[in-house]
Amino acid sequence: MRLYNTLTRREEDFAPSVDGTVRMYTCGLTVYARGHIGNFRTFVATDVLRRALRHQEGYPMRHVMNYTDVDDRTILESQKAGVPLREYTGRFIEGFLEDAALLGLEPVEEAPRATDQANIDAMGETIRALDRNGHTYASEGSIYFKISTLPEYGKLAHLDHAGIQSGARIDADKYEKENARDFVLWKATKAGEPTWDPGIGPGRPGWHIECSVMALRLLGDPPIDIHSGGVDLIFPHHENEIAQAEGATGTPFVRFWFHVEHLMIEDEEHGTEKMSKSLGNVFNLADIVERGFRPSALRYLYLGTHYRKQLKFSWTAMRQAEEALKRITDFLARVEALASSAEAGNTTVRQTLDTAAKAFADHIADDLNTAAALGIMFDLVRALNSAIDAGDLTGTDAAGVRATFDTFDTVLGVLCLRRSEDERPPVPVAEIEQLIEARKAARLARNFPEADRVRKELEARGILLEDTGSVTRWKRK
Ligand code: AMP
Ligand code: ZN
Repeated sequence: MRLYNTLTRREEDFAPSVDGTVRMYTCGLTVYARGHIGNFRTFVATDVLRRALRHQEGYPMRHVMNYTDVDDRTILESQKAGVPLREYTGRFIEGFLEDAALLGLEPVEEAPRATDQANIDAMGETIRALDRNGHTYASEGSIYFKISTLPEYGKLAHLDHAGIQSGARIDADKYEKENARDFVLWKATKAGEPTWDPGIGPGRPGWHIECSVMALRLLGDPPIDIHSGGVDLIFPHHENEIAQAEGATGTPFVRFWFHVEHLMIEDEEHGTEKMSKSLGNVFNLADIVERGFRPSALRYLYLGTHYRKQLKFSWTAMRQAEEALKRITDFLARVEALASSAEAGNTTVRQTLDTAAKAFADHIADDLNTAAALGIMFDLVRALNSAIDAGDLTGTDAAGVRATFDTFDTVLGVLCLRRSEDERPPVPVAEIEQLIEARKAARLARNFPEADRVRKELEARGILLEDTGSVTRWKRK
């Protein structure tokens, strides 16, 4: 499989370095708010990478995706809410898990929280190792990484060393490339902030140290195979992760850096901009569902653009994604409905399937070109629909067609998601039944506006009611 590597700025052949298992780390959600659909673009792209490596290339995975549950933003928001940090962030971890399941993300092997005691202890050890290797200094109770001690600092983000001010410090977790400074590893205790002391003085971790430490602790000896995140993390987060890990171990940290481009959104005032909580232009998965779309349509929308290109979100694009996905599921339903026949399978159909399967796999192996792979799937649907029209594709071929689409879906993860949505109505069955009873009671009391309101409410939520005599049945819209 060929993968683009941000470190070398080119595509390279990928294979795992140890035991044939892929050791991969993904920067997870900062759990101070519900993840938005921009965040999930990155998580779905990473999930497709995981699925391609696992199901198409056949590698076992050891994949760690963390929760950033202590940083500037989580502390600030938990303080505003008056809720202890771990309890506050726990709520958004639950929300993330719900959304991740709705979008068909495969569970990862390890999902650590930065504040798990084992991670805090390991941060203390790594900072002590950095200190022994001469990469740190202390100031006013905080510990900083001295970037001038690492000549390779800036290799991922291609920093211009002329602009770096030696000795200047920065305490914030996020800052711009133009502001490359000595960054904070361990922040001195402040009143009202949570604090730990893993043997390096009381304080709390800077954001960057958390990921280096969780990756090294849970994935074994460096270099790990793949590290992923959105492009905004290249600097400073990933640059600093490299500095910390390589400064502490003296060994390269990561072989392949995988970065996903942003989900963008049109803004009347500012034009096209990155979807981001700080710009206040975010939609969550719940907003998408509220507008009548299914999570599978959003997953399909993500797949339609190569992960290294920006993706512009719009409701029109959502509608198109829904239509395209429906064309595929309609075709598959048509195949299922073909009567089984005693005829032998059609060799031309078999060849068409094999050619498409090979082309699909080649596009995926070509730096995860999901857009081109979907194109292959569409051409196949068109060709096979014509074959059904012409009577050339019969029930005998159905199993082969199904198997080919199932193979595509091990990587795409969208058709199985759709099927599970079909099995699970958009409103819990018990609630539907309760509302049907409420409507019946309203009708008996001749309160027809109320009965009508209940029917409309269910319809807006994707459930249609059908009355036959005194019996009311429901079905999906
Ligand atoms: P955060 O919770 O801010 O740490 O972000 C979680 C992940 O989402 C990171 O990998 C970010 O790079 C990624 N991300 C944030 N905004 C976007 C966006 N608009 N499009 C794609 N990925 C994003
Ligand atoms: Zn990270």
